[in-house]
Amino acid sequence: MILPIQTGKDNKILRAKSQKVADFRDPKIQKLIIDMKETLSSIKEGVGLAAPQIGKNIRIFILSPELSEQTVFINPIIRKSFRKTLVTEGCLSLPKIYGKIKRSKTAKITALNETGKKFQLKADSLLAQAFQHEVDHLDGILFIDKTREVFKLTAKS
Ligand SMILES: [Zn+2]
Repeated sequence: MILPIQTGKDNKILRAKSQKVADFRDPKIQKLIIDMKETLSSIKEGVGLAAPQIGKNIRIFILSPELSEQTVFINPIIRKSFRKTLVTEGCLSLPKIYGKIKRSKTAKITALNETGKKFQLKADSLLAQAFQHEVDHLDGILFIDKTREVFKLTAKS
């Protein structure tokens, strides 16, 4: 089932801190993961989706298979490098807005996949940025909190 995306910088669900998943085997959690995958694959420009974006304050995010070998991240723990880099970022929950923001150059993530298997991934560039963006969602943080320079996409571009 394709789920509607929560939008807006003051949206209460997007701004809440999400709860840990107690049991990945819970049928509601398994169904949610399937729905999140379906929702993400229906959005052309989407590379990642966090549970708060579809209205659930739980610690799950997914990534597009084009971006990452692991696509489901349950209860992720992130470790970020001190070295930062300036990147351009957008968000499905903030349509047509982009900003320049500082992100750690590399990030390491530990999480469970949908079968409960624990894994660790190290990433740089776009994947490292995606990890940081999605984990921020689980803590109620949006990229516009970290940028002063927001620009809008015009109809022509
Ligand atoms: Zn986002």
